[in-house]
Amino acid sequence: ATPTALLVGTGRGAQLGILIKGPEVLESTRRVDTVVLDKTGTVTTGQMSVVDIHVADGVQDEEALRLAGALEKASEHPIAQAIARAAADKLGDLPDVSDFRNSEGLGVQGIVDGHAVVAGRTALLEDWSQKLPPELASAKSAAERAGRTAVAVGWDGAAKAVFVVADTVKPTSAEAVAKLRALGLKPVLLTGDNSAVAEAIAAEVGIDEVIAEVLPKDKVDVISELQSSGRVVAMVGDGVNDAAALAQADLGLAMGTGTDVAIEASDLTLVRGDLLAAVDAIRLARRTLGTIK
Ligand code: ADP
Ligand code: MG
Repeated sequence: ATPTALLVGTGRGAQLGILIKGPEVLESTRRVDTVVLDKTGTVTTGQMSVVDIHVADGVQDEEALRLAGALEKASEHPIAQAIARAAADKLGDLPDVSDFRNSEGLGVQGIVDGHAVVAGRTALLEDWSQKLPPELASAKSAAERAGRTAVAVGWDGAAKAVFVVADTVKPTSAEAVAKLRALGLKPVLLTGDNSAVAEAIAAEVGIDEVIAEVLPKDKVDVISELQSSGRVVAMVGDGVNDAAALAQADLGLAMGTGTDVAIEASDLTLVRGDLLAAVDAIRLARRTLGTIK
C-alpha cells in the first residue's frame, strides 16, 4: 500500500471515531478472522446496579448491605462500586475496612467492624470453607441463568448473602456482532464472569463461542492459544484486565470509554465505546488496502 493511501485511511478513521496508532495498523486489521470481545464494559455498558439481595435465615438485609458495602467501597471493580452505592443509598455512611485484599478476578476480603468479610465468586468463599446454603445457591443459579452476576458474601465464617448485580447489553452490540459475521469474522466472548452469565449475554447478542471464567492474568493465554490454532485475532476490551491480551492480539481495539492502560496497549481506539466502530475499522482497512494493491 502507498503511504498516501494509508494516511487517507487513518484520516477517514478519525472521522469515523476510530483513532489509529499508525498507518501500518490497517494491514493487520485486514487479515483478522476472529474477533474476541470482552464482556463487561465492551459488549455490555459495565454500568452495574444491585437488583436483588438474598440473605440466609436469621440475617437482615441491612447487615449484609453494611458489611458488603463497606468492603466493596475499597474496590474499584464496577461490581464493587454497584454494591457500595446500593449500601450508601440505603444506609448513608459506611464503616471503614482494614486489611483489605483484592484477589484479581475472584473478589475481595477485609475486616469491617471486627468481622472478617469476603465477597466475590463462590470459588473465593470456598477457599475459606464457606459454602452457600442451598436456598442461596439456587438464588445464585437463577440469577446467572438470567445473565446476571451473583456476588456471594460471607462473614463470621459462613456464606450468608448473595447480591444480584445487573449489567445491560449496549444497544448496538447485537447489530455489531451480526455485521462482524457478515464480514466473515468469527465473534468470541471472553470473560472472567461465570459461564451461565456469559452464555446468557452471548445468546442475547448472537455469539456462539464463549470462553468464560478466565482469570485476568490468563486472558492473554487465551489469545495466544487462538493464534497457535492458526487464527488471526482481534481483541476488543476496555479494562486494566484486558491490557496484556490487547497487546498480544494481532489487532488490539480499546474502548475509548475504557481505562488508559487498555488504550495504551491497543492499536486502535473506538472513541465512542461503540462496537459498531470495530466493524467500521475492519471495513475501512479492507477498503483502504483493497483499492491500492
Ligand atoms: P470481566 O472479565 O467480565 O471484565 P473480571 O475478570 O473483572 O470480569 O471479574 C470476574 C468475576 O470476579 C466477576 O464477574 C465477579 O464475579 C468476581 N469479582 C471480581 N472482583 C470482584 C469484587 N470486587 N467484588 C465481587 N466480585 C468480584
Ligand atoms: Mg471489561
